[in-house]
Amino acid sequence: MSVLLDCYAALVPENGGLKCLKDAKIGIEGSIIDYVGTEMPEKKYDSVKNLRHAVVIPGLVNTHGHSAMVLLRGIGNDLPLMDWLHTVWPIEDRMTDREFETGMNLSILEALSSGTTSFTDMYMRAEQIAHTIEESGIKASLTRVMQNFDEGTDYWTYNRRYEAFDLFNRFNGAYDGRLKIDFSIHAEFTNTEGVLRDFASELRETEGARMHLHMSETKKEHEECLAKYGKTPAQWFRDIGVFDIPTIAAHCVWCSDGDLEILRDKGVTVAHNPESNLKLGSGIAPVPKMLEKGINVAIGTDGAASNNNLNMIEEMHVASILHNGYLHDPTVMKPEQVLRMATINGARAQGRDDTGSIETGKKADLAAVSLEAPHMHPDFNTMALLVYSAQASDVCMTMVDGRILYENGEFYTLDKEKVIYEAEESARSLFK
Ligand SMILES: [Zn+2]
Repeated sequence: MSVLLDCYAALVPENGGLKCLKDAKIGIEGSIIDYVGTEMPEKKYDSVKNLRHAVVIPGLVNTHGHSAMVLLRGIGNDLPLMDWLHTVWPIEDRMTDREFETGMNLSILEALSSGTTSFTDMYMRAEQIAHTIEESGIKASLTRVMQNFDEGTDYWTYNRRYEAFDLFNRFNGAYDGRLKIDFSIHAEFTNTEGVLRDFASELRETEGARMHLHMSETKKEHEECLAKYGKTPAQWFRDIGVFDIPTIAAHCVWCSDGDLEILRDKGVTVAHNPESNLKLGSGIAPVPKMLEKGINVAIGTDGAASNNNLNMIEEMHVASILHNGYLHDPTVMKPEQVLRMATINGARAQGRDDTGSIETGKKADLAAVSLEAPHMHPDFNTMALLVYSAQASDVCMTMVDGRILYENGEFYTLDKEKVIYEAEESARSLFK
């Protein structure tokens, strides 16, 4: 099947940045983009889709979250991180496969309807919920998270080691590569050095292994690590070998200049989660400095209990204005930079070189943002409209691998009413 998208405009790569191509035509053959231009292509496509009212952008990549936590949306409000964690953990302990599945489906509805085509997740029961990725058509990088407080644990006989590798061996690259399996470490303060050293050494020998972790989210965490090990979390992770594996480090709010150099030198991606950091009172990550140093910075929403949504359009907006205000400088975060963080930088962080930009040969992972609403007029600067004015409700189409999964309020792979009903039922059962 082939389709030609006839668009008001499309965001396409140019000289390492992005350009808004007006009157763009995007040709798609199967899952691959095979034409981008302003002229009608010579090739005849099976159908032509009229998107003359919309800007087509690369699908948004949410690089940090805890998807099924949508069932805990609204729990633990107004608490600092440690109190928040101790509120959330006992509830998570009560969650069964059923809750992880209904929560995941609810999160996928939210992701697709706000233009997200791929997400990186740190949670549990990935094996039991992998089918939600298969059925929904979205892309995801799931993990079995390492979290262990027992200094006496022997890594080589530890059940979580077995579970993490079993998941990786069985599901990494499944469903035409839409599902990837990463490895993950909850954080420095929720793990022991011995286990993580051995974990890192085994992962260095594991082809295709990628890492996802939380780091320097709060001042307390950062300072306690310094007191305990005489090292910052970034120095500690580097020294035990974790950063020898391609890594996404979520938050990095309290990173020092030296830490940022470590991240750059080791090729670590920072997942910037401005809304979660603001809501939990964690602080403001030094993102302009990270970008200046050449670190790959991507964007994440974090879990819905600390945000409280999975809306990447809103996250782009906050990421763009927050640093300008904090640094008293309106030039530090340009819309183009933020759009790159939410798309190509995220795809790179996930190890997906075949997506993240609208160009021939890439996978057709796209979102169309409608310009019909009053707040999208007039259009003097389309990238500024997308970052400063757009709302998630302006997303009128989300496509993954050339397949439309969401369009004008309709979901083609998920039964919205059923998913919401089941998620409500699951949330109630957790608190009865
Ligand atoms: Zn998180």
